[in-house]
Amino acid sequence: MKEKFNLIATAAAGLEAVFGREIRNLGIDCQVENGKVRFTGDVKTIAETNLWLRAADRIKIVVGIFPAKTFEELFQGVFALDWENYLPLGAAFPISKAKCVKSKLHNEPSVQAITKKAVVKKLQKHFHRPEGVPLMENGPEFKIEVSILKDVVTVLIDTTGTSLFKRGYRTEKGGAPIKENMAAALLQLTNWFPDKPLIDPTCGSGTFCIEAAMIGMNIAPGFNRSFAFEAWPWVDKDLVQSVRDEAESKANYDIELDIMGCDIDARMVEIAKKNAEEAGLSDVITFKQMRLQDLHTDKINGVIVSNPPYGERLLDDNAITVLYREMGETFAPLKTWSKFILTSDEAFETKYGSVADKKRKLYNGTLKVDLYQYYGERVRRQQA
Ligand code: SAH
Repeated sequence: MKEKFNLIATAAAGLEAVFGREIRNLGIDCQVENGKVRFTGDVKTIAETNLWLRAADRIKIVVGIFPAKTFEELFQGVFALDWENYLPLGAAFPISKAKCVKSKLHNEPSVQAITKKAVVKKLQKHFHRPEGVPLMENGPEFKIEVSILKDVVTVLIDTTGTSLFKRGYRTEKGGAPIKENMAAALLQLTNWFPDKPLIDPTCGSGTFCIEAAMIGMNIAPGFNRSFAFEAWPWVDKDLVQSVRDEAESKANYDIELDIMGCDIDARMVEIAKKNAEEAGLSDVITFKQMRLQDLHTDKINGVIVSNPPYGERLLDDNAITVLYREMGETFAPLKTWSKFILTSDEAFETKYGSVADKKRKLYNGTLKVDLYQYYGERVRRQQA
């Protein structure tokens, strides 16, 4: 089996610089591209990136990249790849829906079917199975992805399984949750550090607060879940366990954090509390039912992160206009606090009553959103 892999991490466009930095922080050299980051490594790298990346959604092995303009070239290209080094006899290997962009081969179901056929044929040959007799696929799963961009085929195996945004703590999510990896990425785009107070005044299911607490305590985001690669027979279970043990030893449960989430909706506050409890963080985060209009604090140098209702999703236009105006009025006195607000409303700054210091375009699922960034005035902290 293989020892070195070409790998990519993926997530929504706009976040690649963030998880590129996370990969470098793990001591792994990488190249950031559109929507993905490339790197190389061994099984330990696969385990570490799945366990530790907060902003990515998948880690995939690049099995091969080759040109193809005809189905014959596609078949031969896939057949030539070293599938025997990945897939044991009995492996299940579904091919995900193919993606073809600006290519001669554009019939996606056919690309998918031919890829399957070529892998089957290669394995039948390698394992000396008779052609025509289907391979048993009752073993561990290796999900294969095939895509063609400008006549160049990329074939990948997903190592992650259920997307990395699913940490395992969110039991209920309410109406308009932000994905966990998106929340973690946004927090890393702010100037929040674990020694600063953090408030999410529209906390919903509590995602920002929980992700912030996990960042603050250096808890590996994937600690409470498993990954597809862990079921693969050639993956050394002791090695994976040692990566998990190391993660456990790196967590700092004693750090003092000041994280609060509020929501107008009592039911959401209950959900947020339940999710924090599931993540083992109920003692760390304060959740309370409150209108954001009632937010006051004497603390300084804090950070507000908010993903308020957008017109499309939760409230009508007029209510949004009023809410954003009141948000602006409520936050304005908190001069030393920085504010980061994620919304799809292009007129946000007008309604809020102030122009952002910075704006960043992102996607929340398929919805185009902006992160409006307002930086607090710097105040030196009093020495205790
Ligand atoms: N980021 C959250 C989702 C936020 S959705 C998550 O991951 O789950 C927006 C939230 O704002 C909703 O839960 C809604 O109840 C809350 N909200 C709406 N108006 C509010 C107000 N005036 N004050 C506080 N919260 C409000």
